[in-house]
Amino acid sequence: MIRTRFAPSPTGPLHLGHAYSAILAHDFAKARNGQFLVRIEDIDRNRARPKWENRIFDDLKWLGLTWANSIIRQSERSFLYEKVINKLWAMGLLYPCKCSRKDIIDSALAPQGFSHANYGPDGLVYPGTCRQQKIFVERPLDSALRLNMAKAVTKCVDIKNCNVEITGLKKDNGIINTSQFIDSIGDIVLSRRNKEVAYHLAVVVDDAAQGVSHVIRGSDLKPATNIHVLLQNLLGYSSPAYIHHKLIRDADGKRLAKRDDAKSISSFRSQGATPADIRSLVGL
Ligand code: GLU
Repeated sequence: MIRTRFAPSPTGPLHLGHAYSAILAHDFAKARNGQFLVRIEDIDRNRARPKWENRIFDDLKWLGLTWANSIIRQSERSFLYEKVINKLWAMGLLYPCKCSRKDIIDSALAPQGFSHANYGPDGLVYPGTCRQQKIFVERPLDSALRLNMAKAVTKCVDIKNCNVEITGLKKDNGIINTSQFIDSIGDIVLSRRNKEVAYHLAVVVDDAAQGVSHVIRGSDLKPATNIHVLLQNLLGYSSPAYIHHKLIRDADGKRLAKRDDAKSISSFRSQGATPADIRSLVGL
């Protein structure tokens, strides 16, 4: 069964880039008798707002898209993410970290630390400050939890058989340059100090739970796909196929952001555009 999804975060209006992504995923599934899902990625409780969620549904309907009734909201699934975090903890792959953003900047940029700052999918690559601390038997509840990437990579026994190309970890039929992979991503946070789960973990758990066969999303998320395939491998989930599409840019070549109200679908709608106009504006 072909199953695709559009997974917006309700933190602002949908713009042309979102419309492009949603239409591609929708049309891909429908052309193959498959199913198109919408998932609300509202784990960031400081930024997610119900009013944006309603507007997203309204814009998608207006675009002529139809989706399966089974809508899931990440804010309602914390208990599932917690279970997976506990599993990774039991596997010895997580360690607690209390570093603040400033601590990380200071030590990543210190001359005795990283000689040159290294940026990965989550920004500045964590310099590993808390990795060597004492062994914790119980998971401390007042700390963020980071994935020990070097350990994680050694546990990924099946990665070379998986059907998704992972930059730096898989090429043709062998594992190559693991250290480059580890250094380019670093020990990412999977659970925050307030126990809020990180996007990388939630997305992997949800794509697996919903049986998503094809993840169709912007090429800005390509570096994150490396993390997702690694997590799928660690957790014993099969990896969906990934299709990364071009990004829709403004006249200056800048990627559209949620704050670019001028390119929001609702502003096109209020100027009298039709769904066909939106399709042609994004090159469909
Ligand atoms: N929620 C993410 C966003 O709005 C999309 C994540 C994904 O497609 O995997 O950017």
